[in-house]
Amino acid sequence: MKIKFMGAAKTVTGSCYIMETNGHRFAVDCGMHQGNAEIEKRNWDVDIYEPRTIEFFLITHAHIDHSGLLPRLVKKGFRGPIYTTPPTKDLLGILLLDSAHIQEMEAQWKSRKRARHGENHSDALYTQKDAQMTLPLLQSVMYEKPFSPFPGLKVNFRDAGHILGASMVELWIEENGAQSKLVFSGDVGRSAQLLVEDPSIQQAADFLFMESTYGNRNHKNEADSLDELAEAIAYSYKNREKVVIPAFALERTQEIIYTLHMLAKDGRLPADMPVFVDSPLAIKATEIFRRHTDYLDDNTKALLKKGENPLDLPQLRFTETTDESMAINTTNGPAVVISASGMADAGRIKHHLRHNLWREGASVVFVGFQAQGTTGRKIVDGAEKVRIFQEEIAVKAKIFTINGFSAHAGQSQLMDWLSHFQTQDMQVFLIHGEESSQQALAGMIRERFKFQVVIPDYLEEVTLKPGYELKRVEYPEKAAPRIDWVYILGDLEAKLAQLQARRAQLEAKTWVAQTDLRDRVLELNRGLMETISEI
Ligand SMILES: [Zn+2]
Ligand SMILES: [Zn+2]
Repeated sequence: MKIKFMGAAKTVTGSCYIMETNGHRFAVDCGMHQGNAEIEKRNWDVDIYEPRTIEFFLITHAHIDHSGLLPRLVKKGFRGPIYTTPPTKDLLGILLLDSAHIQEMEAQWKSRKRARHGENHSDALYTQKDAQMTLPLLQSVMYEKPFSPFPGLKVNFRDAGHILGASMVELWIEENGAQSKLVFSGDVGRSAQLLVEDPSIQQAADFLFMESTYGNRNHKNEADSLDELAEAIAYSYKNREKVVIPAFALERTQEIIYTLHMLAKDGRLPADMPVFVDSPLAIKATEIFRRHTDYLDDNTKALLKKGENPLDLPQLRFTETTDESMAINTTNGPAVVISASGMADAGRIKHHLRHNLWREGASVVFVGFQAQGTTGRKIVDGAEKVRIFQEEIAVKAKIFTINGFSAHAGQSQLMDWLSHFQTQDMQVFLIHGEESSQQALAGMIRERFKFQVVIPDYLEEVTLKPGYELKRVEYPEKAAPRIDWVYILGDLEAKLAQLQARRAQLEAKTWVAQTDLRDRVLELNRGLMETISEI
């Protein structure tokens, strides 16, 4: 059998692994690639997935980096079943439509810009119609109910403890009379996480495909996180400013509400500080949580049974319409604003950051992983200014990074989870992590467990045969196309020379025209300075 890594290889997004065995072709996950423009280009080039020949998908969970490319593949001819758990099926019902809406808006925005330049309009990656066509393909299968999509393959979903309905996937594949077991960890949850159970223990696999998002660090403990959130609230309340929390509409938002519910019980959330959940999706997601209480952890079930709703607060307001959303920023005074996206580079959160990031006394609280290249990552890394809606916004608000809310296991939790495996000669593939974190984790795994560890590259193909050496086919040119710095820098130099050559013409312009041009050149100069200091 063969596996091909279509994404989440040395990155955290775009999870998709295509398997080939016994003449069948299927895939685990179908995630969207997110990050800088070059990485996002991968979403457009899906012919390399050969969508028509994929028989079915197994989707670990509803996060867009695991499911968001499904409508694109349907648009390109995929028609098979998509197996997933009942809560994931319901969540995808809202998330894929929302994602399609974002894609349409982005295309409209680009089209308007292109029209001003006299160019053709821009297509959406996929539309709501494509998402609508995807939903009937979803088939739900409960945890621990093994099924067989074709003879020679058995599939089992187990609780990954990551978000509502998230699973690990166990596969038993029979090939030439021999059976091998594969485990895809999905996103491994953090034990002690609110709302969902702890990740299931796994004990056997010939091949393990394991996420490594936090392969190089541990989370601070939950009590610290609670205190940090309370600190952000106290700081901005005192300054009569807002606490802005970029968060995924699903799960993280519910977890923050749960946490605020606990802080309110402790008297650490002022009663006159409204909490806005500024995301139409969050209301729908919360309904889905209520419908699937079976999939929540025992603590939450116990609270619900007592009649206490941990997903509610007296001062909680859901803002559905754009007008309601905008009104948040026209009212003065302290408030907590939870909005999407979690990495701050799309959605309503951009407006809230534009309004609050430059305000001393405001706080911005990051509660999730920030991928390279995103606005969130730049802020967390200490940028003094970030670009939002084509405008440089100064970062003056107090920045909090609270990773104790993570829905991902930290380094030591990943190692604990691994320690339950009994298979001596298991081969471990690290996926869904940035390379530095994968290298750190790989080193620890080799040392402590003596497992063979592989860090696959984008589009790499590996032939898997238990007991045999792995056969790897790498495509370094596709994984990291060479960037022609000699040309790019040479071209820049030539342009500067042209500018120098026109100095006489510059000086001949009117004083007003010269000041305009001066400002433009100074702006370029600033951009260059920033680029240089980043290198
Ligand atoms: Zn996830
Ligand atoms: Zn993920």
